[in-house]
Amino acid sequence: MFDAHRHGPGPNAEELPPRWGALIASSGPRQWAQIAESPPLPNVRYCYGLLPQEIQAFSDTGMDLEQVLQNLEKLITTQRDSAVGEIGIDDRFNQTVPMNSQLLLVERLIGLAQSLDRPAILHVVRADGLMLNLLKRMKPRIPLLWHGFLGSLETARELASLGCVVSIAPSVWRTGTKLQDRLNVLQTPVLLETDYPYHYRSPGEAPASYKKILEHHYRRFAQATGTSVETLERRCDGYAQVFTNQ
Ligand SMILES: [Zn+2]
Repeated sequence: MFDAHRHGPGPNAEELPPRWGALIASSGPRQWAQIAESPPLPNVRYCYGLLPQEIQAFSDTGMDLEQVLQNLEKLITTQRDSAVGEIGIDDRFNQTVPMNSQLLLVERLIGLAQSLDRPAILHVVRADGLMLNLLKRMKPRIPLLWHGFLGSLETARELASLGCVVSIAPSVWRTGTKLQDRLNVLQTPVLLETDYPYHYRSPGEAPASYKKILEHHYRRFAQATGTSVETLERRCDGYAQVFTNQ
């Protein structure tokens, strides 16, 4: 069971479903440290990224962006099996980091992934059109994953034509998302993710273990698309290969 996006150090084997694999992402220096010492695991790829909303946290400690970017590049270069992510744009933080600066940052980071020939994991919140335009302009020739996708079928199709795979998180089950009613007509490659420990929980739902969250998401997605969990798993494992192929 492949988890296309989660955070934190690699979990213990007993917490995992069978045939587990993952892309374990990080969004800034504090999270890099959590995963940098993790042992290599089969079908797991560690990803080092930087989200615009993290800039404030290290600026407060006296580090500047250029320094952090240098550290990031060094980390990705020395950790030869690593990927770049998560990186992206997030309109909720437009007040602290203006969207123009966010776009410049993410363009630079996609450029870094491209120059090191590593996959990149994208985070996009309320800025789908801007990211889509950037990708159309850059046309990166690396595996691209758009995590936490909640966009339209049209955007999914355009992304697929650019070679970008979308990954769907439990947030799709939030009341009122349009995508949850269209999953059965989504024809493009899709991966599933938990975004653990930042995963969505329905109001009133009791906290569940990591394994339960992942299994529940697969089960619900299989139901919504009229397939079996086994078929869904096999399909996701196939799409995941391009990201874990080390
Ligand atoms: Zn994330």
